Amino acid sequence: MAILNIRIIGDPVLRTVADPVTEFGPELAKLVADMTETMEDVDGAGLAAPQIGVSKRIFTYRIDGVEGHIINPVLENSEDYQADHVEGCLSIPGLGFPVRRFRATRVTGVDMHGNPVSIEGEGMLARCFQHENDHLNGILYTDRLEGEDRKAALRSIRNANYDAVTERTTAKRAKSVGSSFGGSSLGGNSAPGSSFGAAG
Ligand code: ZN
Repeated sequence: MAILNIRIIGDPVLRTVADPVTEFGPELAKLVADMTETMEDVDGAGLAAPQIGVSKRIFTYRIDGVEGHIINPVLENSEDYQADHVEGCLSIPGLGFPVRRFRATRVTGVDMHGNPVSIEGEGMLARCFQHENDHLNGILYTDRLEGEDRKAALRSIRNANYDAVTERTTAKRAKSVGSSFGGSSLGGNSAPGSSFGAAG
């Protein structure tokens, strides 16, 4: 297993619609294992394959002890929304903003062996599924912000020296990303007690 390099905003892979997985074998199993290890290393709530530079429809998740992976996911969302909650993204270090998400989500797909998987989540788990699935479509949570939050996010992204972040070694970055999402260190509009800052 290996800790993988996390791609930072500005990398085109984060803006690319990912391809479905068609080959199931040891290579895929290794990728899922490495993604899981990377997510755990940075204390993330989820990780999508494009975030480690692989444009495939795969994400891992880890919310309140519910941990797993899903391949070629399809989401069915509730019609109603949950209360806005601060999200962060490992690919946009140092930022956190409240995002509107559907209350509940059912995700269906397959596991690394090609076996069918169906999971229903509410609250943070549903939020995680929606955040990670967006990554597979080249969408970042900041795209979903409106008004002043959107302006503030775009300004922060412009001002942040993400090129310098990208220069760092994987290990160093993993540590710094993890600690910068410690919760109370989240700047801007972070809500008290929010813990989704370590999202994928
Ligand atoms: Zn993310």
